[in-house]
Amino acid sequence: MSRGAFGQAEFGKLTIEDVEIKGKRVFIREDFNVPLDENMMITDDRRIRSALPTINYAIDEGARVILASHLGRPKGQPEPKYSLAPVARRLQRLLNKEVMFSHETYGQPVKDMIAKMRPGDVLLLENLRYLPGEEGNDELLAKELASLADVYVNDAFGAAHRKHASIVGIPGFIPAVAGFLLRKEVGYLKGVVSNPVRPFVAILGGAKVSGKIGVLENLMDKVDKVIVGGGMAFTFIKAMGYEVGDSLVENEMLEFAEKIRINLIKNNVKFYLPVDCVVAHAAEPQAETKLVTTQEIPRGWKALDIGPASVRLFSEALENAKTVIWNGPMGVFEIDAFSRGTFAIARAVADAYALTIVGGGDTDLAVNRAGVSDSISFISTGGGASLQLLEGKELPGIAALRDRKA
Ligand code: AMP
Repeated sequence: MSRGAFGQAEFGKLTIEDVEIKGKRVFIREDFNVPLDENMMITDDRRIRSALPTINYAIDEGARVILASHLGRPKGQPEPKYSLAPVARRLQRLLNKEVMFSHETYGQPVKDMIAKMRPGDVLLLENLRYLPGEEGNDELLAKELASLADVYVNDAFGAAHRKHASIVGIPGFIPAVAGFLLRKEVGYLKGVVSNPVRPFVAILGGAKVSGKIGVLENLMDKVDKVIVGGGMAFTFIKAMGYEVGDSLVENEMLEFAEKIRINLIKNNVKFYLPVDCVVAHAAEPQAETKLVTTQEIPRGWKALDIGPASVRLFSEALENAKTVIWNGPMGVFEIDAFSRGTFAIARAVADAYALTIVGGGDTDLAVNRAGVSDSISFISTGGGASLQLLEGKELPGIAALRDRKA
């Protein structure tokens, strides 16, 4: 459920509603980086569905709607497995309207297609990362892409932390504003950090402490409780002087982990680590497993999930929470034998009577698999971008957009 005053006002950038787009060519940078199976079937279309409000608005306003996105990492040249053609088909179904698809991303053939578009028509361009200049923010490419349109809209939150031509380059040439998804993501993620309803609990997990350092530092004086699970917990546990067997440890982060833990406690932040865990010799589906306390991880064994006592401890810590952010799984949840802790925490987050925000690609998958997506207040579409906002950083793709005058 939703609580708190979340600041669309503090967004500070013009949005698609602030500019005249009727009859105009509007280039919307989307994040259609969706997972595909070996038959090129989209296995999760949430990113496409999240883009619909802006696209529908542009259609209803009578814009000529040009959509562009990256998909995968084709390294600056065409690779059929990264084609956006399946996205065009899915979008067509979701919009219930024809979506034209251009096999080129820019150049005369694209210009010819755009010239024939009528107000309300939708065209999707082929993968931006087929172009060698995209990731290097090539100025000529940005100018060429800008020449396709009158107005640029960034709705690609998941790519807003990238300094790519279609993210930071095009805004140098034509008026550039935000789409609704971008505004909503920033509203939630910045709002939660700057103005949380308390108690505010952060749950961090995933593989490494190093990926979450910035978040831990930025949240240090903002949160009431920090819960750490997943592989990253074992660097903290080892730093406290315990043996962790063969569990994942970043030795170069030991000192930092201990410093963070002590500083959190000094700041009156309650800090929770797993008290028990599921261990195995290897992260494999058929591996023999045992449940042990965190102080008794045997040599040669790896801790790959949190145990039931940790689930209880963490769930209790969530009971009075009013705001919860969660980034990173509690274990190797991709394998059934090590997924219980993550799914149990997904349910505990979903049950919290709080504003609940889930960020990071893996965590959103975990929430989905646990079947509780509908009970989470907000699930971010961006992994790296959401981490950067939680680190308190400005995203280049947002900085490049036109400011809203005070
Ligand atoms: P991150 O991208 O840092 O959020 O890490 C996500 C990955 O962390 C997932 O693929 C998990 O399988 C992995 N992970 C979670 N817990 C552990 C663990 N205890 N040991 C090793 N890997 C883990």
